[in-house]
Amino acid sequence: MDSSKPQGTDRKTADDDRYVQARHRMIEDIRAMSGIASEYQPAPISEKVLAIMSRVPRHRFVPEDELYSAYYNSPLPIGHGQTISQPYIVALMTDLLAVGKQHSVLEVGTGSGYQAAVLSELAGEVYSIEIVAPLAAQAAKVLGELGYANVEVKAGDGSAGWPEHAPYDGIIVTAAAEHIPQPLLDQLKPGGRLVIPVGGRFDVQNLLLIAKDKEGGFHRHNIEPVRFVPLTGANQN
Ligand code: SAM
Repeated sequence: MDSSKPQGTDRKTADDDRYVQARHRMIEDIRAMSGIASEYQPAPISEKVLAIMSRVPRHRFVPEDELYSAYYNSPLPIGHGQTISQPYIVALMTDLLAVGKQHSVLEVGTGSGYQAAVLSELAGEVYSIEIVAPLAAQAAKVLGELGYANVEVKAGDGSAGWPEHAPYDGIIVTAAAEHIPQPLLDQLKPGGRLVIPVGGRFDVQNLLLIAKDKEGGFHRHNIEPVRFVPLTGANQN
């Protein structure tokens, strides 16, 4: 046995240390893009969100053969034709949700589980739905191993929301909708926010922030053009 190679827990610590610098570079890349963007998000992405993302081990959410690019500021394939989103977009969408520990959040499109992990550190409870069952299972496993205890993942069609835990202070959809599913608007609390990319697979998609006021009225803000895999499911027909 080669005694110079760390084993077990030591190995995990050494690997994690190796990724710390890469994570810092990723945060600098996000910072460089933040605040350039839009009419509604002129302020830079909050330091609170960046601090959380400087801790969450993105390399645990990507497949083995993508480890070398785990901290690139780009989306990566996670299998089943799906992707883990670009870190800058994760930061932007998280910031737009503006949730805290007193809030509950619904995520539609668990994918790798990375976005759910970031939300877990901000919000009180996170409910996340993924339509591809093996991705839901893998994400739940990694989130459990990393101790994100306030995240519940289920396999299912998130275009119908998750009525059992509604209403939500924040809803984040990480796949592009042809139109906004009505159940998501219904399951948003007055005063809550929905962050969702809208547009067809081959169209320009727009990241939208929908704010629900205390009287139940909706206010729509265009944030910036984005590119996401499509939202599927019953409420997209
Ligand atoms: N948030 C993810 C992450 O952190 O890795 C990235 C999500 S990926 C860009 C979009 C995901 O939405 C895919 O995994 C896809 O299977 C899922 N999806 C698409 N339509 C869905 C639906 N109706 N309900 C739930 N998940 C859906």
